[in-house]
Amino acid sequence: MKLIMLGPPGAGKGTQAQKICDDYDTVQISTGDILRAEVSNNTELGKKAKEYMDKGDLVPDEVILGMMDKKLFGDNAPSGYILDGFPRTVPQAEGLDKLYDQHDEELDAIIVMEVDRDIIVERLTARRTCKNCKKVYNLLFMPPEEEGVCDECGGELVQRDDDKKETVLNRLKVYEEETEPLIDYYKGSGKIKHVDSEGTPEEVYANIKEVLENL
Ligand code: AMP
Repeated sequence: MKLIMLGPPGAGKGTQAQKICDDYDTVQISTGDILRAEVSNNTELGKKAKEYMDKGDLVPDEVILGMMDKKLFGDNAPSGYILDGFPRTVPQAEGLDKLYDQHDEELDAIIVMEVDRDIIVERLTARRTCKNCKKVYNLLFMPPEEEGVCDECGGELVQRDDDKKETVLNRLKVYEEETEPLIDYYKGSGKIKHVDSEGTPEEVYANIKEVLENL
């Protein structure tokens, strides 16, 4: 199964991708997570990406496409996956299509997560991440047992720099300008599946499951 999770930042793409992985024995590939790991390892790619990420801007398409070519078609590439946070622009989607053509592969579906803008801002500014193990919490609907402390490893919970309000608003603007046009781009493929994503993580997952079971 090859899926794309599409939707604004904070729609719950990562959370839902993880749930699908638990049920369907597939893997989640998150460009945001890969980039954050590069940043914390202080690699050349990480240094280049950090200046964009801190502002909520997108890392240049050619950097992302090179990285994803290796990940999806290089040695040890998985046979099925859920793409979370990629493609993020029309040129990235065109680049991905070219790679699928070259390798004679294709996508199964593009899940579009629909959430109102105000809910997104509320959700993202309430997000906290463990500094140590990277587990994600939400003060609104998935709080830790003890404030500021990770349930899993006891690490300190922090707000990601790009979850600060000003950056969240910029990320949403970038989404509307750069990523939303992908819905039109994929329209003709017949693979777009819209999913109401305003409920609890469990309710949203039930909606997604219904789509997956009818693919
Ligand atoms: P995310 O965790 O998906 O919200 O990504 C965090 C940040 O990483 C984004 O705000 C971008 O700066 C960068 N990023 C992640 N995926 C991409 C992508 N496909 N294209 C460009 N930049 C990306």
